[in-house]
Amino acid sequence: MSLIKLNDIGKIYVSEGNVSVGIRGVNLSFDLGEFVAITGESGSGKSTLLNVISGMDSYEEGELYINDEPTSHYIQQDWEEYRNKYISFIFQNYNIIDSFTVLQNVELALMNIEDIKERRRKALELIERVGMTSHINHKGSKLSGGQKQRTIIARALAKDSKIILADEPTGNLDSKTSKEIIQLLKEVSKDKLLIVVTHNFEEVKDHATRHIRVFDGSIEGDYIISSELNLTGNNISNIEEKLQNTTENETSKIKKHFSNIKNGFVLGKTIFISKPKLTIFLCMLMIIAIMGIFVVTSTVGEGAMENFENTYLFEPIEGRAIVTRRDGQALTEEEINTILVQYNQETSKYKLEKYINID
Ligand code: ADP
Ligand code: MG
Repeated sequence: MSLIKLNDIGKIYVSEGNVSVGIRGVNLSFDLGEFVAITGESGSGKSTLLNVISGMDSYEEGELYINDEPTSHYIQQDWEEYRNKYISFIFQNYNIIDSFTVLQNVELALMNIEDIKERRRKALELIERVGMTSHINHKGSKLSGGQKQRTIIARALAKDSKIILADEPTGNLDSKTSKEIIQLLKEVSKDKLLIVVTHNFEEVKDHATRHIRVFDGSIEGDYIISSELNLTGNNISNIEEKLQNTTENETSKIKKHFSNIKNGFVLGKTIFISKPKLTIFLCMLMIIAIMGIFVVTSTVGEGAMENFENTYLFEPIEGRAIVTRRDGQALTEEEINTILVQYNQETSKYKLEKYINID
């Protein structure tokens, strides 16, 4: 059994009438404990390969298997569940929030933990794991590239997913820092599948267990460079058991829904504290926009009512209302239905309660 298996996978991009091949005829399989380095020229399909594995890009040809299960029938929601459960993605341009501290940036990824104290404890543990304890209160904007990437790695670890994908994680770093980041990635990926795209094979060659070369969208070479997998022990069966345990029951889904609402408030508070002026400005903007929408829709409603009054004569009498056409013509069945549906239900001004009689 393979954790991930690509069978003759092809990905084609179509944009503005142009068709370009991302990858084609790719056959690969990956397992836990592997540290795979992917190299190749710019435009050869490395990012496409990672995006297909992560489910961020669809594929048009072949079949991708997760735990031997095919995925070609997956809809958006299935991919989201898969990513949520299995994938942590680390990009080259550290997507850190500049106005948040290191601690806040990591806590953001731990919003699924409801208990605030437990969330903080876990965040501090992850920050320590990536060697950033001395910088917990530093804002994102004040960090060096290496420190930002460490923070991002801590965030990626928050999910404890089994697959870590990194697309040129050292692309903007000097060679010493790059080596440290690769070393760190290896340490934190024990028992996981780690796939790193890199432009510099030198910096990963001492750590990777496998090297895949991509050329023009195809696999040019696939070499095992170390038989020693990145595992803590003989716990593979344990891990497989965990991976099988996929179903989430309804109660936990409902709980998750409420915790999302709660997290929204916590997040809002954090954003307000870190950028109070901007938050107030955005709130004002939203209030003005909502008022604008209200004025426009109510004007449209009034227009419709005016039209109604020009065409029909409306006489409310005790317990019912009589509607006749001003031009003396009989009301058609269709008109009656329209009046009932549109004016009886949508406007509170005319509460037409009974069927309208016509001669
Ligand atoms: P690499 O990561 O090795 O530099 P990519 O996977 O980004 O290469 O790109 C592989 C090929 O697919 C290139 O020819 C590129 O132009 C094309 N490609 C990648 N992404 C897109 C996209 N979103 N739209 C159109 N073409 C794309
Ligand atoms: Mg790329």
